[in-house]
Amino acid sequence: QAAAKAAAATADSGAPTIFDKIINKEIPSSIVYEDEKVLAFRDINPQAPVHVLVIPKVRDGLTELAKVTKLPYLYAEARHGEILGQLLYAARIVAEKEGILDGFRVVINSGPSACQSVYHLHLHVLGGRQMNWPPG
Ligand code: ADP
Repeated sequence: QAAAKAAAATADSGAPTIFDKIINKEIPSSIVYEDEKVLAFRDINPQAPVHVLVIPKVRDGLTELAKVTKLPYLYAEARHGEILGQLLYAARIVAEKEGILDGFRVVINSGPSACQSVYHLHLHVLGGRQMNWPPG
């Protein structure tokens, strides 16, 4: 927990993240769904039987602006409506493909206080077990 918090506090270096390498297929990932705008792949450290990350391929200010302003992500603006909708639509496709449409959770950890560790906007899609509330 302490290590995750420390990593989150320093993760926003402004550099391209490991997710850029996954998008560019420079490092391997287990892809569940891909289209022109979004990529969904299995989390390397799954917190549930199904744990898939859904990310925008095009950063389009969703990350760059936050570096400038130091505001935590999710730094959504009105112009991001389309890509944000596409991310949620992809989350539904992932849930359907993975057989968890009857119950799943979508999470965005935004900024250090939420323990965000990779500063490229991503939705966690979790399911395949009873999800409890409140989260930690
Ligand atoms: P946290 O690390 O606290 O979950 P984030 O919300 O930023 O914070 O989530 C980043 C996620 O990316 C983590 O769940 C982590 O396991 C995952 N991850 C990191 N590197 C990879 C990778 N190479 N392939 C797949 N998932 C990865």
